[in-house]
Amino acid sequence: MTTSSTQNPLTGKLLFPFVAPPNGGKGTQTQILSERYNLPTFDMGSTFRAIMKEGRDPQLKAELESFMNNGKLVPVETVVKIFKKNFEALAAQNPEAKGFILDGFPRSQDQASALATLCQEWQATLAKVIYLNVPMDVVKARATGRRFCSQDARHVYNVNDAKLAPKYKKMKADGTGVEVDAQGREVWQCTLDEAELIVRADDEPQTVEKRLVEYSKETDPLIAHYRQTQELAEINGDQAPEKVTQSIETVMHPILALAPVS
Ligand SMILES: [Zn+2]
Repeated sequence: MTTSSTQNPLTGKLLFPFVAPPNGGKGTQTQILSERYNLPTFDMGSTFRAIMKEGRDPQLKAELESFMNNGKLVPVETVVKIFKKNFEALAAQNPEAKGFILDGFPRSQDQASALATLCQEWQATLAKVIYLNVPMDVVKARATGRRFCSQDARHVYNVNDAKLAPKYKKMKADGTGVEVDAQGREVWQCTLDEAELIVRADDEPQTVEKRLVEYSKETDPLIAHYRQTQELAEINGDQAPEKVTQSIETVMHPILALAPVS
């Protein structure tokens, strides 16, 4: 058996999977830390989108559609296959990186077991699972308070956050008070152009609730598993973004500082 000629691009690399509820701040944090430590991020969500919408891999697309069109969940083997293929490709493009951030994988306990097996195969290290713990009522408020400008979707506000709230509410034409929408919520106006602000379907309370229930069902066992194996770093995600970054750095920095330079 030869080893040197067949070395995998992931050999010796440190992996940092990030886990957080929807609207838990994962996107913001992975972006900051990825740049700060030169750890490329593998994003499972955008990989799926690239396959389904951009036609990156027609064969895989057909396989995924065969499950989805029959109303079936994509089996863990298929998810793992997609992860392995695309993550190895990302690693091969970034030989200088000490490691990688994983966003959206593993998402369940089955996927965590698969990742452990892959790490052995690659001789890579699962350094720490960074878990942003944010109370459910906080993520719910973040989602349901979000408002988009009806004229320019880049103008985003949050009526539940003093720092991100728009300045003006829309008054009724007859001057008898604030206008309300079909759900009885007060209507706000864009601070920049006074256009009406709208709630996206994704941010409607029932949709948010459903998403969070699904998240907990899938993720609670995953968190419990990593807590038990002591691979979990639990971070208080209910603080200002800079504080969250600092808390994550206290976990990642010592691990990366000790890692050998490749
Ligand atoms: Zn606007």
